[in-house]
Amino acid sequence: MDLRISPRIEDFRARIARYVERELIPLEADPASYDPHENIRLDLLDTLRAKARSEGLWCLQLKPENGGQGLGKIGMAVCYEAMNRSIFGPVVFNSAAPDDGNMMVLEAVGTPAQKERWLKPIVEGKARSAFVMTEPHPGGGSDPSMIQTRAEKKGNASYVVRGRKWFITGAEEASHFILMARTSDDPRYGLSALLVHRDQPGWRIVRRIPIMGPEEHGGHCELEFDGLEIPADGVLLGEGQGLKVTQMRLGPARLTHCMRWLGLSKRCVEIAQEYAARREGFGVRLKDRESVQLMLGRLAMNIEIGRLLVMKAGWELDRGGFARKEISMAKVQVANVLHEAADTAIQINGARGYSKDTVLEWIYRYARQARLVDGADEVHRMVLNRFLDQEGAEFWTWPVGDN
Ligand SMILES: Cc1cc2nc3c(=O)[nH]c(=O)nc-3n(C[C@H](O)[C@H](O)[C@H](O)COP(=O)(O)OP(=O)(O)OC[C@H]3O[C@@H](n4cnc5c(N)ncnc54)[C@H](O)[C@@H]3O)c2cc1C
Repeated sequence: MDLRISPRIEDFRARIARYVERELIPLEADPASYDPHENIRLDLLDTLRAKARSEGLWCLQLKPENGGQGLGKIGMAVCYEAMNRSIFGPVVFNSAAPDDGNMMVLEAVGTPAQKERWLKPIVEGKARSAFVMTEPHPGGGSDPSMIQTRAEKKGNASYVVRGRKWFITGAEEASHFILMARTSDDPRYGLSALLVHRDQPGWRIVRRIPIMGPEEHGGHCELEFDGLEIPADGVLLGEGQGLKVTQMRLGPARLTHCMRWLGLSKRCVEIAQEYAARREGFGVRLKDRESVQLMLGRLAMNIEIGRLLVMKAGWELDRGGFARKEISMAKVQVANVLHEAADTAIQINGARGYSKDTVLEWIYRYARQARLVDGADEVHRMVLNRFLDQEGAEFWTWPVGDN
């Protein structure tokens, strides 16, 4: 077992870390850097994206032929963590959700023509995208088999979509959408993934849903589809393959969430350490108090458990596996560690932690979604239990190497 990373990955990590330190961290303290929804201002983002691109720090997740750096999941884990030392990081390097997951799935299953039309503009930074799956009750949320949005076939040339979706991240800014709709009632092959452009008629944004945390660009929106027509060549991977597309989209995307959240978690530790080193009370520095040392020691350990789970899942994906167990474990662990990190760091910072003088309160509010998005904790634990039931003691086997 070799946990070393390649010099190339280390080079990317170090360059990203320098970029984040130099260009992004100073912006966080300036209220003028933010848009009205607590994310980075779009005009500022454009400048920073152009700079990151010119330094070759762009779309690390994609293959070189698609405009990326072909780092693989292990390299991405190292680099995404470094990016999200800043709350502004991932989007600057074109590694933020939902574009990140959408680009990866389009790269994996798009036809050459679909890649040209739907992937390339996102890679070039000219378009933003959204993944459209979750529905309000009684539609599909945790359970995709409940999806009610229907795409009815109109002859052989197109589909007509009717239904309602919500919590669609980025919808107000996106021009490219991957929409999950029901094309039949077959339990396994009933869903299809459809490619939609903003300018097509037959759909609307009902509202931008106000949320407790800072928002991704384009917010989290409720959408209504009422007669949207999609040509037959707008189906990703073919009719009835929607569940497969979803699995291929959500597995790696969950893992990249974890990679980024580990960066945010480490930032919380950093802010807590910095304050504990200079703050004193009752004649003792916070840093020298055993209670504070235990809090930080535990947090460091829990972050490292998350990193190891992410690396194991990344390794499994890089060698062609699905890593379903590993991703579920990583997702639950890291979502909860992000909470613990923000909460602990706020506690150590006292009232300062509750203020907007640091990014801790931003991270704390953002963190609450981590245990819900892309599968609630309970759903991932249910999946793990299913594997345990099926595999018994095999659940924990190590793959055996060649020599
Ligand atoms: C900030 C944010 C951004 C999002 N972005 C997108 C997006 O871009 N695109 C998109 O399609 N969706 C998006 N979502 C939706 C998200 O993926 C769903 O919220 C998630 O899949 C859970 O579905 P639900 O909200 O319908 O919860 P429900 O399915 O209604 O479940 C509610 C709760 O019930 C519990 N529960 C559910 N199933 C089980 C079980 N099997 N065992 C035990 N307990 C269970 C869990 O605690 C769960 O939180 C976003 C959500 C948020 C909050």
